[in-house]
Amino acid sequence: MVLSVGYTFYYFCITTSYWEVAFIDPWSFTVISLIIGILLIVLGTYYSWKNHHIKRSYHIPDGKITYADLNISEKTLFSPRYRLAGKPDYIVKQQEKLLPVEVKSGAYSHPQFHHIMQLTAYCVLLEDTFQTFVPQGLLVYPSGHHMIMMNPKVRFQLEQIIHEINYSKRSQTAYRNHHDKWKCRSCSLRQHCMEKLI
Ligand code: SF4
Repeated sequence: MVLSVGYTFYYFCITTSYWEVAFIDPWSFTVISLIIGILLIVLGTYYSWKNHHIKRSYHIPDGKITYADLNISEKTLFSPRYRLAGKPDYIVKQQEKLLPVEVKSGAYSHPQFHHIMQLTAYCVLLEDTFQTFVPQGLLVYPSGHHMIMMNPKVRFQLEQIIHEINYSKRSQTAYRNHHDKWKCRSCSLRQHCMEKLI
């Protein structure tokens, strides 16, 4: 998009005499216009290269990256149905379908259950935000990538977890189930948690 605007603007500047009606002198107008046109072309080329680089590094299939929280902070998605909020790393638009992508840095050889649940939650968030069906999501590890199907089983497992969390919150029976200080260090609930380790 930026690239085509840049080329159009560049072409416009070198072919038109529109500067004659400008309030600045013709040379300044031409030079400024050329600089803006060239900047737009450079910007478009950079974004196009960056998208290509992201897709190649994370094995993201063909499609347009419409959301990239790993690059710039994107808006949080919300599901009123489950009262869930979150941000996938990427969203790729393939024709009319949306594909959430979650990138993990750990050395896992196969998809971890909690990562599958996280990806399933992103599918639900996308479905509620964009009013569409999301049939699959992509989990990316340094060792490889895994396409996870959003079948009824994983959706049911996610619902079970959400119900358990809600019940624990209501009944105040949520207890820590690990001894990992690092988990607590990066936990978003640490400020309010009575069982935090650090
Ligand atoms: S801070 Fe609390 S909720 Fe967060 S990981 Fe630690 S124990 Fe769990």
